[in-house]
Amino acid sequence: MAQEFSRRELLWPGAAVAAGLVLGAGLNADAAEESTKKRKKGKGKKAKADANRCVVVWSEGTAPKKVYPNDINTAIAEGLKELQGWDIVVANLSDPDQGLPAKVLNRADVLIWWGHQKHNQVKDELVDRIVKRVKEGGMGFISLHSSHFAKPNKKLMGTPCTWGAYVGDSLTLKVSVKDPSHPIAKDVKEFTIEHNERYSDPYAVPTPKAVVFTGVATLKDGKTDPSQQGLTWEVGKGKVFYFQPGHETNPVFFDPNIRKIMANAVQWAARSV
Ligand code: ZN
Repeated sequence: MAQEFSRRELLWPGAAVAAGLVLGAGLNADAAEESTKKRKKGKGKKAKADANRCVVVWSEGTAPKKVYPNDINTAIAEGLKELQGWDIVVANLSDPDQGLPAKVLNRADVLIWWGHQKHNQVKDELVDRIVKRVKEGGMGFISLHSSHFAKPNKKLMGTPCTWGAYVGDSLTLKVSVKDPSHPIAKDVKEFTIEHNERYSDPYAVPTPKAVVFTGVATLKDGKTDPSQQGLTWEVGKGKVFYFQPGHETNPVFFDPNIRKIMANAVQWAARSV
């Protein structure tokens, strides 16, 4: 059933369509399809909404406005807009059906998830639907930073997903490519980002299929802490990628290196057709 949404909620999606995104807050699948058709029509092509793949970028809306004026989901979505043949949908915890009504989730080839303070507000019923989409439907799942404790991430991993330590005493993180042959590392070279919160190994998860990125945090006292940064798994029919950077006070999702990794991860995580 179509959800009602206000004119105010439509304003941002309108701008998003112009920018190559499909829609934002208040999303529903009917609106997504309509927006996609309009976008295609605008280019003078026939509407082929189903021909495009779909990535949904979800966040809980708690990032500081001075760092992420339109939250983390929008920053990530903007970084994906160069992807050809993809519809990019922005979803938020406060949207109807917590941003993921069945028609949207069922259309998603990949779901990107950023959560931190509101993990417990995510309904178990939604978590079950996400896990089913991954395991049985082959939807890719990309879990970012503090989403190691997100309900869908923990359920997909089946382990506590704890890190050895969480300390806000770092200044920078140097990210290195450990598996250069991996598609998520395509055209990515070593880079350094602003980084205040380090998670230290070990990470309590199943043995990953690949460790694509490692990193070294430089601490305020000059010491360093190496840890895993980007790991992959296969869970049922779906692919899962976890990426450690992304603390809400560091604007890393505007960084071109991180944006490249996100775009690569989306393409990798989608089920091959
Ligand atoms: Zn954090």
